[in-house]
Formats: sequence, C-alpha cells, structure tokens
Amino acid sequence: MPATNLRIPGPIELPEHILAECSRPMISHRGSEFAEILHEITDSAKGLFGIDGDVFLLSSSGTGAMEAAVVNFFSPGDAVLVVRGGVFADRTRAMATAFGLDVDVLEVEWGDAVDPAAVARRVEAREYRGLFLTHNETSTGVMNDVEAVGGVLRGLDLLFVVDGVSSVGAIPLRMDDWRVDVAYSASQKAWTAPPGAGLLAVGSRGWKFNNDASCPRFYFDLTTMRQALKQGQCPWTPPLPVCFALRASLREMREEGLDRVFSRHHEVGEFVRRRVIESGMDLFARHEVASDTVTAIRFPPTTDAGAFMTRAREDFGTVFGGGEGELRGKIFRIGHMGWTDRSALSGAVDVAAGLLD
Ligand code: PMP
Repeated sequence: MPATNLRIPGPIELPEHILAECSRPMISHRGSEFAEILHEITDSAKGLFGIDGDVFLLSSSGTGAMEAAVVNFFSPGDAVLVVRGGVFADRTRAMATAFGLDVDVLEVEWGDAVDPAAVARRVEAREYRGLFLTHNETSTGVMNDVEAVGGVLRGLDLLFVVDGVSSVGAIPLRMDDWRVDVAYSASQKAWTAPPGAGLLAVGSRGWKFNNDASCPRFYFDLTTMRQALKQGQCPWTPPLPVCFALRASLREMREEGLDRVFSRHHEVGEFVRRRVIESGMDLFARHEVASDTVTAIRFPPTTDAGAFMTRAREDFGTVFGGGEGELRGKIFRIGHMGWTDRSALSGAVDVAAGLLD
C-alpha cells in the first residue's frame, strides 16, 4: 500500500511539526497559559478575517460555527436570502429553515458564481434581515466575489453572513472593508490544524442584530462566549490539541505574511488547473471563478466514480474528494489549501488522468 496522498478539501494533510503540537501535555483550560493561547489565536484570526471586531473559538466543526451564525442573529419568521450555489450553501438553507427562518433562495448554477446584480435585484424586491453567501463553495470549487456582493448591500440594514470555511486563511476576506458582518471558518481547512475548532467573527452590526435575536440557543450562545472570552476562556472545554496546532500554524502564517499566503494559494490554484487541463480533464467550475483552495473535475459520462475512487486509493494511495449531494458520481475534487506540496498535487493529477484514460 503506497503512502497516502490525502487530497480531500479538508481535513488537510498536516506537516509533522504541526502534528507534533497535538501531542503536547494537556493544560488547564481555565488557567493563564490557555488564556494566552486563546488570545493569540483570536488576535491572529482577526487578520485572516479582515476584521477589527470580535473572533470566537468554538468547540465545533464548521457546521457548528454555521449554526452559531444563524441562532445568534435571527428570530423565527425572519426573512432571509440564501445564495445557493452548492451543497454547503444548501446546508445553510436547511439550517436556517430548521430554526424557523423564512428562507428565500437565490439559485445559482452549480459551477458558477453568483452575479452581484442578481443579489441587488432580490434585496430590492423584498426586505430581508439577512443574506447568506458561501465565499468558497467547496462542493463545486467556486469562489464568490464577496467584495462585489457586499458592494450592492451598502446602505441596507441587513446582516451579511459569509461562510468562510474553505476560504479564510487562503483567499482574502476583508470583512470590514467589504461590508461583511458575520463570517465563520473551521480549523481543518486552510488554518492548517486538525478538525475541532470553529472560528466565528462578528462585526458591530452583528452585535446590534444579536440584541433582539430570539432563536433558541445554548451551546453557541454568543453572550456566554463573550463573557468567557473576557476571562480568556471558552465557555465549554476547548479542543486543546487543536488550539496548540492552530497557534503554531498561525505563527507561521504571520511569519510568511498574509499577502504571500494568499498569493501562494492563487499560484497553486493556477498550477493545479493548468495541470488538469493539460492532462485532458474537464474543470467543473467556470475557469474565471475557479477556487484557489479546491478544484472540482468532471467525470466523463461513462466513468464508474466508485471504482475510480477505490482504485486511486488502493492502487495509488491517493484519496480524492468525491462529489457530494447532487454532484455525487459526477465530479471528484482535489484539495489544495494550507500547506501544499506541488509534487503531491501533480502526482494526484497524474493518477486521475491515468485512471480516466
Ligand atoms: N461550509 C463549507 C464551505 C465547507 O466546505 C464545509 C466543510 N467541507 C462546511 C461548511 C461544513 O464544515 P464541517 O464539515 O467542518 O462541519
């Protein structure tokens, strides 16, 4: 069995020295040592989110952070608009519906990004309390233009919520400059840490909306989290090994410089797309909006997707991401976020092209 080339779009492969952080001895999560770690993480995270406001560390995956972004700012019956361009946007729709919000959907062809003018038309036609947009739709390999969408929301008293699970730390998000009020992400993606921590960033409009939001909540209640953060704590037991790893990876990102981190991801994204096209395979996303953290590739119509995935794994140690939801059996995905090695990416493209030949 060859060594594994884990190419799913998160949890990502971690370098040895980050993995080693996870085996540090446990510490008290109510003590000063943890307070320092937590503040270091949340302060660095502000740079990645492009926000001067507040960042919280949640003991959860990205979906927990998504739930926090719904329950803390909305009430049952609130009219919201969800831009639905893939599986994760659809999860936001399902979640908002589950909490009793009055959800309208702006459908976007899967594989394409939302047209900001279409958002403008919808928010003019009905008064919404919130707009949900997935920055990087991991299921289709598409990046949405958050800045342009934020631009059409200026002047509206509406909460702009962005799913940054597979973008933040790899693709620029400038919440304060782009009129984004709430955004969230997760440790197992570009943050280069294991799964287990959600990150939630809240700007000033978020706090205003929080005042009269009545969705039921407890574990993810922002008031409890804010109180705890003042003491350098999380309200509930934090995922300590993930925090150790996050602190280390964020230090490295600061040393590298965020601009360089972002340009490196763009270069790697271009590299993978070029290799895929040169190898005769079909990108699923429209090239102009293709993601710099994950590339989705269309299977030829006759391919047995299950057999492809099994052979890639068993014969070549290469683990691709499959298609999810409606895209199951139609596409596969190659993740390239965080710490990436071009030869491993190139190798994965070669394995795929060989199997599809
Ligand atoms: N949103 C996006 C864009 C994602 O990529 C994911 C995970 N792939 C999620 C939400 C859900 O995150 P998690 O699996 O960590 O709950």
